Amino acid sequence: MGQYNQVPFAFNFKNWTQLFRTTGGNGEQTMITGDDLHNLRAIVGEQFVSTGESILNLHSHDESYHTPALPDAVLWPHSTEEVSRIARYAFEHKIPVTGWGVGTSLEGNPIPVNRGIVVDFQEMQKILAVRTEDFQVDVEAGVVYKELNKTLSRHGLFFPPDPGAAATIGGMIGNNASGIRTVKYGATKDNILRLVVVLPGGDVIKIGNRARKSSSGYDLVSLFAGSEGTLGLVTEATLKLAGLPANFMALRVTFPAARNATDTVFQVMCSGLDPAAMEFLDSNVIGVLNRDRGLAMEEKPTLLMEFCGFSEEGLRAEMTYIEEACKDNGCTFMDRGIGQAERDRLWEMRHLTFESIKRQHPGLLPLIMDVAVPLSRYSEMAELVREEVRGLLAYVFGHAGDGNIHVIVMDNPADSRRWARVEEANRRIVEKALEFGGTCTGEHGVGIGKRCFLPREHGDSLELMKRIKKLIDPEGLFNPGKLFL
Ligand SMILES: Cc1cc2nc3c(=O)[nH]c(=O)nc-3n(C[C@H](O)[C@H](O)[C@H](O)COP(=O)(O)OP(=O)(O)OC[C@H]3O[C@@H](n4cnc5c(N)ncnc54)[C@H](O)[C@@H]3O)c2cc1C
Repeated sequence: MGQYNQVPFAFNFKNWTQLFRTTGGNGEQTMITGDDLHNLRAIVGEQFVSTGESILNLHSHDESYHTPALPDAVLWPHSTEEVSRIARYAFEHKIPVTGWGVGTSLEGNPIPVNRGIVVDFQEMQKILAVRTEDFQVDVEAGVVYKELNKTLSRHGLFFPPDPGAAATIGGMIGNNASGIRTVKYGATKDNILRLVVVLPGGDVIKIGNRARKSSSGYDLVSLFAGSEGTLGLVTEATLKLAGLPANFMALRVTFPAARNATDTVFQVMCSGLDPAAMEFLDSNVIGVLNRDRGLAMEEKPTLLMEFCGFSEEGLRAEMTYIEEACKDNGCTFMDRGIGQAERDRLWEMRHLTFESIKRQHPGLLPLIMDVAVPLSRYSEMAELVREEVRGLLAYVFGHAGDGNIHVIVMDNPADSRRWARVEEANRRIVEKALEFGGTCTGEHGVGIGKRCFLPREHGDSLELMKRIKKLIDPEGLFNPGKLFL
């Protein structure tokens, strides 16, 4: 059982006499009984149910500051059929069910706030079929996308959405994750063709198809993508793949002010070039990387860009145009290169950002803000965000090519006065993004932290979302306490 192998499953359900069930879902606490554990063990196997303290702790929190909550038990099913039997049992006994990938969410998305069962997909990691000629792969939900891409590289293919952390496909679908390559390839939901989903109550549905396009009825794949496990548990997915690029070109460019950097993004995007990634990093991010990694970069707003193409000549011509655009916008420094090794050299610092920020602030926790706005408002938003977080330990960066801005603020949630200031900045930034026609979350999902913004963002259509939830999960058992207040 991968990382959980060494944990002793010493619990004996017959001794668990104090357990009792108090209520069902819908915001109240439940506990599962010794009988429940016995019956759940009969479904997945004796050693694939745990109530061990360290296991419950591991499944009580994600990577955010949100308050942990212990589940009553963690289950590791092996198949769609087992997941279906778990869901049926949970429905009949009113036990909350929360899906679990690897818990790297940033808004409390998989925290089992109403206790109950956590369904961990670690035992469902099979790559079922690579269909090279269709540019598709069938996978189980527990497959880690970085591992998937290692396998796919042997076929000259890859699954483009790239959330950075070692996320599972099920977790990426749950949050509709995306990342640095969204500007070229889209988010997770743009790269899913077909899903197998276990509904509350245990019914199994297959949605979508294997064609690259379809006009056939409601788009249920998109409904489940980003639903954070509140409507169903994804057990299998057919994913759309892209061919591995033959060659790369990358640039790291420094500007006197954020607006010069974001204006360059606009100019490059307008030019008809097709960037694979365009990341904005403010001077604080560069400063923390300098301190943490012993680097000596100019501590100014910086753009990291990546392009891919077939020939070096073609990329060189594109580079000349981009260099001109950067100079037009007053750049003060430029480092660039062609080829995979150069791309990796120039981008390494970006992949180190989160770790460096955390390491430079021991004892503090991050609140990671995540808004997205229309591209025309990106410059304004970047400047405004800087103002809102003035006086805080704040690091602004983002996927500038798709309008997504992040701020990592390091602080101490136990210091209520200071933390209120952090949350207030978050609130103001989200409200500004909504005023600009954007969204409260570009990619991290709603979880617990963004629930309060949904009425403002969705207005009357939030009621329709609640009705859909009620229709599919009438008992409110699947990932309760998320999305809606
Ligand atoms: C350092 C760092 C960087 C990150 N960068 C990015 C980024 O650039 N872009 C981005 O989008 N995210 C980013 N994230 C957030 C996170 O990695 C992603 O949201 C990721 O997709 C979560 O995957 P997971 O496997 O950890 O899922 P989990 O956190 O375990 O679960 C995510 C959600 O999906 C549900 N779920 C899990 N499995 C299933 C299933 N099989 N069926 C239905 N629901 C399920 C859970 O209940 C939960 O609601 C980052 C996180 C970290 C720690």
